[in-house]
This record gives sequence, structure tokens and C-alpha cells, in this order.
Amino acid sequence: MRMFTQGQWREGREALEVRNPFDNTVVDTVPRSTADDVTTAIDGLVAGAEIMRRLSGYERFQILNKTAAIMGERLEELATIISREEGKVLAESRIEVQRARETMELSAEEAKRITGEVLPLDGASTGKNKLGFTLRVPCGIVAAITPFNFPLNLVVHKVGPALAGGNAVILKPASDTPLSALKLVEILLEAGLPPQAIACVTGPGGVIGEAIARDCRVRKISFTGSRDVGERLCQVAGLKRVTMELGSNSPLIVMPDADLQQVAEAAAVTAFANAGQVCISTQRMIGVGGVYDELLERLTTRVGKIRAGNQLDAQTNMGPMVRESDARRVGDWVDEAVKQGARVMVGGGRQGAVFEATVLADVKPDMKVTCDEVFGPTVAVTRADTIEQAIAMANDTRYGLSAAIFTKSLDSAMRFAREVQSGNIHINWGTMWRADLMPYGGLKDSGFGKEGPKYAIQEMTESKMVVIHGV
Ligand code: NAP
Repeated sequence: MRMFTQGQWREGREALEVRNPFDNTVVDTVPRSTADDVTTAIDGLVAGAEIMRRLSGYERFQILNKTAAIMGERLEELATIISREEGKVLAESRIEVQRARETMELSAEEAKRITGEVLPLDGASTGKNKLGFTLRVPCGIVAAITPFNFPLNLVVHKVGPALAGGNAVILKPASDTPLSALKLVEILLEAGLPPQAIACVTGPGGVIGEAIARDCRVRKISFTGSRDVGERLCQVAGLKRVTMELGSNSPLIVMPDADLQQVAEAAAVTAFANAGQVCISTQRMIGVGGVYDELLERLTTRVGKIRAGNQLDAQTNMGPMVRESDARRVGDWVDEAVKQGARVMVGGGRQGAVFEATVLADVKPDMKVTCDEVFGPTVAVTRADTIEQAIAMANDTRYGLSAAIFTKSLDSAMRFAREVQSGNIHINWGTMWRADLMPYGGLKDSGFGKEGPKYAIQEMTESKMVVIHGV
């Protein structure tokens, strides 16, 4: 496929291959864009931002709503693209397309509801006969820099609200998974988006991501990706607004009163969906009191049923990781944990980019499989004596994106919700659950700012204060 800048599809001087992570075959090629391509793209978006600013909320609603409808019609085509470039099983890709369609529909609806507030200026000692109100206005040019793991829905979470808010957008998808994003651009254009309002450049983040971040015509950067890249982007961005949706090593506490079969079912979904490559994957499990041995037994039996392999085969429950090098890294971390005293209860094997669903027992807090972000199909189980100790372990991390507890006690649940430092809290499910309308974002090194179209629009628009001076 080609990149899209200045209202046109263009070839690049060099190409990047997009490969199917299961068998390493080339799915397609995209341009390896340069910093000059970024400048050209942003030159075009200056006019695009002006066009978008003048569209009414209703006109923006119509474009985005039609985009959502086309996405629904093309569900199967989009799902196949996601599975082929990213590696998740088709069933998960279909869910991703449905969610992305809904995220676009939510963005369309919110385009009609962007509002300011009226201020009682006569409440100020100097405010007699004055009326004040705020207007929300677009930022202008918004940059959307996105990760590989949800190559459609996480792109829509940025592009949808940015356009709904009346902005032009420069989109830079992950190099492993640019095809879903380029397809989305095609659909937006078909739905009537002014072509000058969007650009999509593909290529290495270190080159074109940084060129985007440095360009002073970009007013707002919305980034989803790893912690270290997020920190680097903040350093180069200078005076820009930024939203950072970063990584995590999310904990799940299992209390003695929990239904352990339910826990095992939840863990099978929330630790291993998309081969564990979800920012809110359950990575750490903390069994409190006497539950540890039975928890391990139930977990091992349930996780042992997860069949890993070719993501396009209907019998497969879990596809490959996005790159073989990542699967090798996960294997190294597991081996290191075993050398330090952990036990592999199930899994641990690798073939190419496919890493088996793995349960590790007797994990100590300083092992990499628990204290760093694994972003792979492993769950690390640890023992705690009390809820105090379990909460302290849950909080003993630089991250704070999602955390969960299984308990029947309202007191334990409320204590967990109050004391655990995390942007998302789940009671009686694993750490991985999201409705796309929720305010979603992390605490601590997991980032700042919220996504969910209503909340993202707040971050992608600015406020003007208007004062009418009466006599
Ligand atoms: P990543 O390596 O940080 O890449 C994310 C994006 O940043 C890609 O488009 C990448 O381009 C680009 N990039 C890389 N270096 C850059 C630089 N110096 N300047 C500007 N852009 C740069 O992350 P990933 O491996 O794709 O995704 C996995 C990470 O994302 C995990 O840490 C996960 O937890 C996090 N994540 C967070 C959320 C959330 O909502 N909090 C959701 C999903 C994922 P290239 O692909 O060309 O390198």
C-alpha cells in the first residue's frame, strides 16, 4: 500500500515489508517514509485543519457515522488484515473490528456534543453586568502515534476523536502493522472526509515519529506505546499537549473467598488474549492465604487447554507474538526466572514467534517476569499472607494501568479500589476489560490523559474564555 499525504496516495523512495508473524511471509509492502515526507504531510494538513475547523459538528458527525457504517460492512476484510499483519486469531480480530466500529460511532456522536460552560461572572467583585462563557475549539493538527497490538481500534481511538473535535490528523501506525491504519484512511475518504484533513505516514518511529513530534505546527500528540518511547517523545515534543497511554504489568489478587474456577476462566482470557500482548494483560497473580496451591492447580489445567498456533486456523485459540525476537525474549525471561527459583507449571515452549501459554509459580518480586512488562503469554503467580501484603505487592511497580481482585467481601473490594494505584480497577474479573466509552488511562509510569471518545475530545480541543462587558 502507499502513504497518504497532501490529499494523495504516494509511493515512497524505499519500501518496508509487512510480514505475517506466524510464517514470516510478506503480506504487503508500505513506504519507508522520511522526515521530508513528514514535513510535506504537515504542510498539507495546515490547510486541512482550516477546512476541518469550518465544518459543523453535524457535518463531522455525518462523516464519522458513515465511516462506522462502512467499517461494519467490511468487518471480515478488516479482521483478515488485522490477523495477517498482527497475528491475533480471527475471532479476536472480528471483536477488534466491532469495537473499532463502535469507537468510531461514539466519536461521531460526540462531535454533536462539544460544549463549553456559562460562568457566573457577576459572582466576582468586579463582574457586575458581565457575562462569560467558554468555547471549545480544535487544537489544529493532532498527531496519532500508535502501537502494533490493536492496529485498528487504537488508531480509531485517536483519529475518531481528533476529527470529531474538528482537527486535522497526522497518523503514524506501528511499522509491524500499518495496513489496518491505511485501510481506515481509505474508508474515511470514501465516507467523505476532506482529503486534506488526514495524512498517514509509515516508517521507523525513531525517524518519522520524532520528526512529527518536533514539528511545531503539531499542537497535540496522542501516543500509545511503550514507556521508554513515551518518555523520549515527551522530551522531543517541547511545548505541545501530550497524552501518553503506556505499558503495565497488571496485578490480580485472589482472596481466600474467591471462586477459583471463575478465577482460572478469567485468567485464561485476560492473561492470554492476543498472546498476552495487551497493555492491561493480567501479568501478576497474587494468591492470598490458603488459596495458592489450588489456584495453581486450576490455573494450570485451564491454561493447558489453550492451543497456540496459526492465527488463521479456526482451531487455534492463541496466535503468534508479533515478532520472533519478542517470543525469544519472553523465553529468555522465563529461563531466567526458573534459574532464580520459579517453576514452569505449564507452557514455556516456543516455535518461531509462537510462545505457549505459560504459568509460572513461586515467582519472586524482583524477577523480570513480574517486575518488568512481559507483553507476552505468561502469568507469574506469587503468594501473600494478607490483603495488606497483597496490596503492597500490587503497588510495588512503576506502572499503574489496570489492577483486579477476586473476592466476595465488599470490604476487601472497597479497600482494594481505594488503595491500589491504578487507572482501571476491576472487581471479580481479570485486569483486561474495557468498554470503549470508558475514561481509560494510566497512573504512574503508565501515562497520563484519558482515552474514550468523550474524554479524548477534551484532550484534543482547547478552551477559550469569552467575556461580554455590559454597561
Ligand atoms: P512502541 O515500540 O513504543 O511503539 C509505539 C509507536 O511508537 C510505534 O508506532 C513506533 O513506531 C513509534 N515509535 C518508536 N520509537 C519512536 C520514537 N523515538 N519517536 C516516536 N515514535 C516512536 O510500542 P509497541 O511495541 O508498538 O506496543 C507495545 C507497547 O504499547 C506496550 O508497552 C504496551 O503496554 C503499550 N500499549 C499501551 C496501551 C494503553 O492504552 N496504555 C495500549 C496498547 C499498547 P515503529 O513501529 O516504527 O517502531
